[in-house]
Amino acid sequence: MVRREFLGVMGATLATSFANADEVISNDVWLRDDQKASFVSVIKKLNNIEKIVGYGKYNLLPFDEALKIAKNHPKMEAFTKAELAYIEEVFYADPIIYGFHGKRVCDSLTTAINEKDVIKISNTGHYLFRGHSHDSLNRIIKDVGNSLVLTSGVRSIVKQLSLHLEKIQSENGNITIACRSLVPPAYSYHSNGDFDVGKKGWGHQNFTANFARTEEFWSLQKLPYISMRYTIGNSDGVRFEPWHVKIV
Ligand SMILES: [Zn+2]
Repeated sequence: MVRREFLGVMGATLATSFANADEVISNDVWLRDDQKASFVSVIKKLNNIEKIVGYGKYNLLPFDEALKIAKNHPKMEAFTKAELAYIEEVFYADPIIYGFHGKRVCDSLTTAINEKDVIKISNTGHYLFRGHSHDSLNRIIKDVGNSLVLTSGVRSIVKQLSLHLEKIQSENGNITIACRSLVPPAYSYHSNGDFDVGKKGWGHQNFTANFARTEEFWSLQKLPYISMRYTIGNSDGVRFEPWHVKIV
């Protein structure tokens, strides 16, 4: 509860300073009122689809397949026109308006991952592309040790869409802040080779800057054959992600 009290004091201090400022300028982009209904119902439908196909398979699920499940499953309803229009807007909008400057890595909402191109990594629920990604993980684990694990591998557009929308939700509708950690679905390098690693048993901590304090991270840094995608102050506008391994 100490932390809560600390934040309480911080909040009060911020509120006072805002009250004293003539104007609070923020360029952050927020979820619009006209998007809210579709936003909520799309998240709900995607959650149901994930439950139906299972956590592992959801990482690979193509968009067309997700639509079919919603349409045909007895406990679901097809995506509405408004929901589809919202999803398209999320996919095709240029995220530069959210302060994200990364490259688009996927052109079409219906781009699918070929299951023959990926391999399931046991005990993780995740997949990696065969070849360079998979070989790199094996080499990393050999060099760093078994305490290093894969925490996120290949992500389909549907999976990244879910993660992105859930992040907007947890940021109370602030799309700009959400994009600093979970980029829109056409912009994730998880769709073509990058992956995340962490310390075994560390759970959510692996996705915080604390990962940079682990021995695993320091061993990782010494490896000449890999690099970090999102370094401190990266030009994409993404937060520091010491766990995200750049492959492509
Ligand atoms: Zn990542």
